[in-house]
Amino acid sequence: MTEAVIRVESLGKDYDTPAGPFTALKEVNLHVGTGEFVAIMGPSGSGKSTFMNILGCLDRPSRGRYFLAGRDVAGLDKDETAQLRNRTIGFVFQGFNLLPRMSLADNVALPLVYSGLGHAERREHAREVLEKVGLGRYADSLPSRISGGQQQRVAIARALVNRPRLILADEPTGNLDSHTSHEIMQVFRTLNEEGITVVLITHEPDIAAFARRQVRFLDGEIVHDAPTPTHQATPGEAGDRHPLPREGGWGEGPPC
Ligand code: ADP
Ligand code: MG
Repeated sequence: MTEAVIRVESLGKDYDTPAGPFTALKEVNLHVGTGEFVAIMGPSGSGKSTFMNILGCLDRPSRGRYFLAGRDVAGLDKDETAQLRNRTIGFVFQGFNLLPRMSLADNVALPLVYSGLGHAERREHAREVLEKVGLGRYADSLPSRISGGQQQRVAIARALVNRPRLILADEPTGNLDSHTSHEIMQVFRTLNEEGITVVLITHEPDIAAFARRQVRFLDGEIVHDAPTPTHQATPGEAGDRHPLPREGGWGEGPPC
């Protein structure tokens, strides 16, 4: 049995609204083991982002328990929570959230501010992860010089710079065309094959098909949790999609 990176037990979340408390998550139970690749699906308003925010320790549950990397998050104070989050999780969002006046390398190095590393070392780490996503040669460029798909690669590099064991991504392909989306999913797939646990939210079946397990929310509850059916488990391998070039080929050509 693999060790659970995420263990959620009877988790609930209420929001205060002018109309009274609103229950966004009801009785959620979920284990995600080391090395899994999970797609969280479900219609708008079903509780996906609420759940992801709790997984990312960005919000607290109203009920139930959450263990991240074996630690009961409820037992940690603010600093301990931040430390566990920064050590364990890399975040990728739908908007790439790059700082426009900073070079790609400086954007990627941002999460290392509290690492204790000096400026030169931080930049060196940033360049390494930019290489990994195929953008090493643009380290000194500004975000406005590269495409949306390349910006999301930079955001992935930024998520990787602390060497997290878990990547949480909320609709990471939501702003990208389908060709670019599939290329980004190949990046996640490769990271997963290298051992990083990936949990991502999507409402697109062709994106979820890259994951090995699909969990579906409806009205704040998990209503489906099963391996990705094998007939759709291998996008990119049938020759009609976009296989990932292995050696230094993750880039998408020169900046515009
Ligand atoms: P999803 O990501 O699946 O679209 P969300 O987790 O964003 O769903 O939202 C789930 C439900 O909780 C929705 O009905 C939404 O309106 C409600 N909700 C989300 N955030 C808040 C909030 N801060 N205050 C009140 N209601 C919220
Ligand atoms: Mg959402």
